[in-house]
Amino acid sequence: MERLQKVIAQAGVASRRKAEEMILDGRVRVNGKVVRELGTKVGPKSEVEVDGVKIEQEEHVYYVVYKPSGYVSTVDDDKGRKVVTDLVPPGSRVFPVGRLDYNTTGLILLTNDGEFSNLMTHPKFKIPKRYVAKVKNVPSYIAIKELESGVKLDDGFKTGGAKVRMKSVDHKKNTAIVELVISEGHNRQVRRMFEAVGSEVIKLKREQFGFLTLDGLTTGEWRELSRKEVSKLR
Ligand code: URA
Repeated sequence: MERLQKVIAQAGVASRRKAEEMILDGRVRVNGKVVRELGTKVGPKSEVEVDGVKIEQEEHVYYVVYKPSGYVSTVDDDKGRKVVTDLVPPGSRVFPVGRLDYNTTGLILLTNDGEFSNLMTHPKFKIPKRYVAKVKNVPSYIAIKELESGVKLDDGFKTGGAKVRMKSVDHKKNTAIVELVISEGHNRQVRRMFEAVGSEVIKLKREQFGFLTLDGLTTGEWRELSRKEVSKLR
């Protein structure tokens, strides 16, 4: 048995606080009856409705997936391209936690736990994400310092601090391999950060999300997270 607001939050309908408001406002029914009591416990078989819409109570699953290039980070693509949810066993209605670009490879989490996903992507939680980028136009020492202290993106957003490490440089080709750890997740952030300092990302891989790495996985593979790993991330 779970508290009603938790069940609503885990279904991804709203945050726990919003769910509490919904309950107090009389928008939630359990087995057909309006419930305004915040502590109400519901079981997996209880029928919970929010604004007349039934919510699905599914057993939660959590996958860490090694995304190959050429997959969209959605559950369904209107252009018919492959989607990340094709990579895990069918059956549970999982979706990606945040996004990786179509051509970005590496670590992405998939789950059907909406509350977990909201926590993992909320800016307040500042989960560090480690990327390795191959860039055209070797960034200068000053560019690296700028990336570390924060740069202004094309939409005016100023990025927070980053850890940046030059891994190797090919002077002939004017390319470099750069490792970057950021705790934000704006759209195409790594590519746009390099653009802001005059470099272009030609390959991008996410190697780490919080304490999770791709250890033991090769491209296209997945594994389930243990309960311990999930609670450590929360
Ligand atoms: N930053 C990007 O630019 N692309 C990604 O896929 C992830 C982070």
